[in-house]
Amino acid sequence: MTRTPAVGQWRASALSQDRVADYQPFGMVDGEGVRCSLYVSGCPFACDGCFNEAAWSFRYGVPFDDALADRIAADLAHEAVQGLSLLGGEPFLGTGVCLRVVRRLRAEHGRAKDVWCWTGYTFEELLAEVADGQDDKAELLSELDVLVDGRFELAQRDLTLAFRGSRNQRVLDVPASLAAGRAVPRAGVVDAVPVGAGVDGVAVP
Ligand code: SF4
Repeated sequence: MTRTPAVGQWRASALSQDRVADYQPFGMVDGEGVRCSLYVSGCPFACDGCFNEAAWSFRYGVPFDDALADRIAADLAHEAVQGLSLLGGEPFLGTGVCLRVVRRLRAEHGRAKDVWCWTGYTFEELLAEVADGQDDKAELLSELDVLVDGRFELAQRDLTLAFRGSRNQRVLDVPASLAAGRAVPRAGVVDAVPVGAGVDGVAVP
């Protein structure tokens, strides 16, 4: 059964093993344009119907290391690449890995490349985590351009949605949402283009 944590209950410092489930460069599924997708290991939300159960374990996959960091940076530098996509697992519980990649991207490209992130937390839950003093979640949220939020809900599954798998999930403009203090949908997201899209951004096998 899908879990809902209390504020502050789940922290990367206690859970993350700094491992990644997968890395896919030059894809066109996980967001707009050509993207490099990093899937971190570990997700305790345990949504019914999740297509990536193998990545629930924080010990799944391989350690994130300097070689992978360099490879991602080199791929992101390609002129055809629009940006980075962070998926899971749960990126907000893999902040050690995600922040390393995002900080380097911002240092090397500023805002010329965008960052999309898929999370099981809702935007409102993340604001509560930030208010609880979790600086890693706050920093990651502040670096995002787009957040696809919320647990996958099997009863609301809809494969006509763009970039998400169930109707409760939202595609949010993060800078606008942070400025407004409430969830602001990203403009221009058109549904009914589901080919290849998956649950929580994880490609359907
Ligand atoms: S659908 Fe997403 S949030 Fe839910 S268990 Fe799977 S990876 Fe975690």
